[in-house]
Amino acid sequence: RGNFVPPIRNNGGSSGNMTSRIGKNDDSMGDSTRKCLEMLCGPDGELPEKLRNLEPRLIEHVSNEIMDKDPNVRWDDIAGLEHAKKCVTEMVIWPLLRPDIFRGCRSPGRGLLLFGPPGTGKTMIGKAIAGEAKATFFYISASSLTSKWIGEGEKLVRALFGVACCRQPAVIFVDEIDSLLSQRKSDGEHESSRRLKTQFLIEMEGFDSGNDQILLIGATNRPQELDEAARRRLTKRLYIPLPSSEARAWIIRNLLEKDGLFKLTEEETKVVCKLTEGYSGSDMKNLVKDASMGPLRDALQQGVGITKLIKEDMRPVMLKDFETALQEVRPSVSSSELGIYEEWNRQFGSLA
Ligand code: ADP
Repeated sequence: RGNFVPPIRNNGGSSGNMTSRIGKNDDSMGDSTRKCLEMLCGPDGELPEKLRNLEPRLIEHVSNEIMDKDPNVRWDDIAGLEHAKKCVTEMVIWPLLRPDIFRGCRSPGRGLLLFGPPGTGKTMIGKAIAGEAKATFFYISASSLTSKWIGEGEKLVRALFGVACCRQPAVIFVDEIDSLLSQRKSDGEHESSRRLKTQFLIEMEGFDSGNDQILLIGATNRPQELDEAARRRLTKRLYIPLPSSEARAWIIRNLLEKDGLFKLTEEETKVVCKLTEGYSGSDMKNLVKDASMGPLRDALQQGVGITKLIKEDMRPVMLKDFETALQEVRPSVSSSELGIYEEWNRQFGSLA
């Protein structure tokens, strides 16, 4: 990053290095790229130094595809997970809101790992952090770095951290971080994925030691694959378990109420919760979706055509719809998998 590229216009198309000042008549880049770069320029019209020797198209990709301008998730949208919410509030949100207080002894860790079964709200937590702390949210799936960006992953990682640096406070959420920072034997590793991993660790090291307000959140369903270097950098490691019975009830009520379809009694809700032991948050969402089709199927069976159907005439979602849906939507996490998470949590998780 230290290699300053002098401001000489590049004629090799939009994939070359860029100038520090975006020339008004520079026709080597498209309008959208130019617009995106202009938004990152300082008041002097200069691009911040961190972005100067990065490829414009990668900066554009980060700004348009990876940066989420409106994460739109609040704590109240997430069922249960009180422990995780409390830890995250203290460790992440307060420091992002009040950097002046969180200095010295109180300076926060810059790396957070959320681990647990798929579909339990890890991504939601990441988005909620950005929403609550009024930070810019960047979402990237680590497996896309190795599959979709073959050979370019390193450059994209640099662009990602570079843009995040210009958009502080920022939260970088790396999904499936295990595929990037796994403990595969180095001789079996591809040279390119080793380089990518090194680049990623270098970038993390860079903002860890500085005063940047950037938080890296890694999420994984396979924490046991992370190596020691990854664990060391992700100082806080929170287990995000399957939802409790109360959380499952909350998800059912919340989703159905949004559509004015919640009419289950407390007893009936309890029955559904009992029958959904072991379901993840996203399993619950799929279950509710399936159950909510019950009234529609019933109405159509009575011979009313879909085009003539009056929405208000449909009955509410009932317990029997959930019972039918339970045959279709099965839990996606096995109890043996849960054992692995619990063991890893005991060994490496932040329990307090
Ligand atoms: P993960 O990142 O853990 O794989 P997500 O956060 O992407 O899971 O969750 C997937 C979907 O499942 C969410 O969009 C949401 O609809 C539902 N969901 C999962 N966990 C919860 C939760 N704790 N509260 C509310 N909805 C949840």
